[in-house]
Amino acid sequence: MNYFFELITKSAGFSRVGRIVCSKEAKRFISTPNIIVPMKKSLMNNLNFLEEFEDQEIFIILKDIYLKIGFIREKFKATGFIYTHNGLMESFKKILSSNIEVFSEDNIIPSIPFNTPTTVINKEFAELEIDNFIKESDQILKQYNNLDFGLSIKLFDYYELFDRYLPLIKNNNNVRILNLVDLFDNFSNFRNILKVIFKIKRELDSNLVLMVSGRIIPKFYPILIYLGVDLIDASYLLYLSAEKLYDTIEYLLPIFKIKYLPCPCTICKGKLRFHLSEKNSSEKIEQLALHNIISAYTYMHKIKLYMRTEDFRGFIEKSSHDNMNIISMLRVLDNQYFNDLKFETPLTQINKVINCRGALSYNRPDFQEFRERLIKRFTPELWTKLIIILPCSAKKPYSESRSHQKFHSVTRNYRDFPDFQEIILTSPLGAIPRQLENIYPVSSYD
Ligand SMILES: [Zn+2]
Repeated sequence: MNYFFELITKSAGFSRVGRIVCSKEAKRFISTPNIIVPMKKSLMNNLNFLEEFEDQEIFIILKDIYLKIGFIREKFKATGFIYTHNGLMESFKKILSSNIEVFSEDNIIPSIPFNTPTTVINKEFAELEIDNFIKESDQILKQYNNLDFGLSIKLFDYYELFDRYLPLIKNNNNVRILNLVDLFDNFSNFRNILKVIFKIKRELDSNLVLMVSGRIIPKFYPILIYLGVDLIDASYLLYLSAEKLYDTIEYLLPIFKIKYLPCPCTICKGKLRFHLSEKNSSEKIEQLALHNIISAYTYMHKIKLYMRTEDFRGFIEKSSHDNMNIISMLRVLDNQYFNDLKFETPLTQINKVINCRGALSYNRPDFQEFRERLIKRFTPELWTKLIIILPCSAKKPYSESRSHQKFHSVTRNYRDFPDFQEIILTSPLGAIPRQLENIYPVSSYD
């Protein structure tokens, strides 16, 4: 089946609201950004799973059995699925060829998996593994050239090896989803992460859907979306649940520390309370996994809401202020990648208040662009006799504030008042001529 990505709107940074069109006739879409919920036996044991995720738009499945279970297919007819595989490439190929009818339907996307049976010990080994994967994938993509695919991109911490994948992606237009499986495993490598992201943005078709999996916790969702990620695989939460960690978005807490469950989901309000004191209960882990995925799902909905209603860049700063890697990543983005980002990020926003959070907010792309344009385009009138420098005010526009009305009541008494140029000094934006006080972002920051 053929899928394609449709952009709906752009938001701050590379973030975008869009949809994957599965079938235009049947109006089947997967909205993005979105999380991908793992469909696994341990989760499905719990009756709440099907109920909680009834309206979830996309699942990931690892076992071909789920391709065939009638009631699942029936219940999730309008839902998207990504099928991938934990085993060897050979068995993935077999499953692909024996289920070709299933994959030809319009809601299951096979994603070519990259699994290495051994640990990669050095760069040379990584190169060999990647080259081999590329060869195999190229063969699959050509053999099934009327099917669309996801493609795993594994880098083993050697970010420069991303270049090897470029010809494969460019030469096979049935690659629709890039699944970055280990790029975000270590956020302290943010400089290299950004190099890969910008390579994708500069060199590849912008209609490729960007998916991430690997060690990803919900706290990272806002920055991932800011980097242009469309789909986030939530499977890592299953691993964290087995490690008995409870996700509150702000923190990952060991479950034994929790006396009161701070979440109103059906699991926390239901059975999980009674299992808290049990040490090694598999039921507890299943319940915990379900809570963790529900909280990721809820958080994603919140983010999607804020992308529309709030200043999204401000939300990213607010949600990440305690994570130095994310803060540093934003700084590097603002300072080194501004010339790319200024074409991506909307330069004005309507009806949104920008809450500045100190120096980190000063160089956000819309602020930088405003300052650059101001310097290039604003020239004081020739007849200016006096420049009056005024402080900014909390109320916007400045002229409606009490302080500015008082200044005005004094300055207007001078005969030469029409020849004065008023400049307002602001911490986030710099020096603002009075004439520009009504335009974004001068009118909208706090
Ligand atoms: Zn809960």
